Amino acid sequence: MSRVLIIGAGGVGSVVVHKCCQVPDIFSEIMLASRTKEKCDAIAAQLPMAIKTARVDADQVEDLVALMQDFRPELCINVALPYQDLTIMDACLECGVHYLDTANYEPRDEAKFEYHWQWAYQERFKEAGLMALLGSGFDPGVTNVFTAWALKTQFDEIKELDIIDCNAGDHGQPFATNFNPEINIREVTAPARHWEGGQWVESPALATSKEFDFPEGIGSRKIYLMYHEELESLSKHIPTLKKARFWMTFSDNYLRHLEVLQNIGMTSIEPVDFKGQQIIPLQFLKAVLPDPGSLGPLTHGRTCIGCLIKGLKNGQEKEYYVYNICDHQQCYEEVGAQAVSYTTGVPAMIGAMMMLSGVWKGKGVFNMEEFDPAPFMEKLNLHGLPWKEHIL
Ligand code: NDP
Repeated sequence: MSRVLIIGAGGVGSVVVHKCCQVPDIFSEIMLASRTKEKCDAIAAQLPMAIKTARVDADQVEDLVALMQDFRPELCINVALPYQDLTIMDACLECGVHYLDTANYEPRDEAKFEYHWQWAYQERFKEAGLMALLGSGFDPGVTNVFTAWALKTQFDEIKELDIIDCNAGDHGQPFATNFNPEINIREVTAPARHWEGGQWVESPALATSKEFDFPEGIGSRKIYLMYHEELESLSKHIPTLKKARFWMTFSDNYLRHLEVLQNIGMTSIEPVDFKGQQIIPLQFLKAVLPDPGSLGPLTHGRTCIGCLIKGLKNGQEKEYYVYNICDHQQCYEEVGAQAVSYTTGVPAMIGAMMMLSGVWKGKGVFNMEEFDPAPFMEKLNLHGLPWKEHIL
């Protein structure tokens, strides 16, 4: 029986609330708060149980503190934007509330994906006797748990990790992103970076690609090397890793549109003067692109996200692949969202469940791979994200 505050009424927030309502013995009282209260109310109207809703500006610590002091949650699930991570962590510290998110903090004026801002809260959370769980989505999130599971059950030593994210779905739109367009485009247009031989190796964005044969009929797709934040925590917590890379599929159509938008400056985060007003081109672009939340009924096909791992077991070289396949239309039928929101929202709910039931506990700031992966892997199978594993 717990009181939970969920911040952010977007695509992911909606899935988190739906999934929490499916486990009322743990999530007995829920409040959904966001910048636009009407969005919270619209989600609340779809749910099988009554929840509270509120307006909050999560950029303002005092706004958050007032809300937390009023509702007195045990845990705050942050599924607003990465810009709000630190203000929400500050408010949690002030009000004695545990914290969970799905994406690392990013400063608004620089597309930097680094954990150091949030890891710097380690001592303060520890002293306050509170737990912060970082990156409890799919990637980061399940991919960290998959890697910890591989280490626990398959390997004595992991040497190479390839995280491979495929969205083989089609929404029929000329150009749209599957989650917040601003955050998505900042991520995709950033230089690629991977971990090799104890250091980071940087290369131009989307310049390295290869074919990968996905299982269960998805087939061969082109995957592109990118940077993703879980590489930072995994290379820190699994020091035997010699090489760690992150790959994602993109359709030729998506890349063609992105290239044009980049060439004409529409993906820039540098402010420009427009009729006497400062605007950020990427934020304006977000305003004209389809809302990812609207893609649910339009998207068909499946996602496949997994970890391909090489290492040693009993002195022998071994290769292992663990993955989940998720169907866009099945997600829409269950919770009214497409699979990218679903695959993020379900692990956020499971991470919260791990914390509130005391299965995962600690004082301080943690990444997912620092806990026993077994109970989380079991819950994935039970709550809509079944996984498979193959020894290759
Ligand atoms: P959306 O843009 O759909 O939703 C974000 C929500 O946050 C919106 O409802 C927005 O309000 C609200 N919000 C924004 N700023 C504030 C603020 N200052 N105060 C209060 N509320 C605010 O994004 P998604 O749902 O697609 O993504 C949510 C998070 O999930 C992001 O951080 C994203 O990076 C992360 N993510 C993680 C993944 C993973 O696998 N780990 C994968 C995909 C996403 P309004 O509607 O009024 O604008």
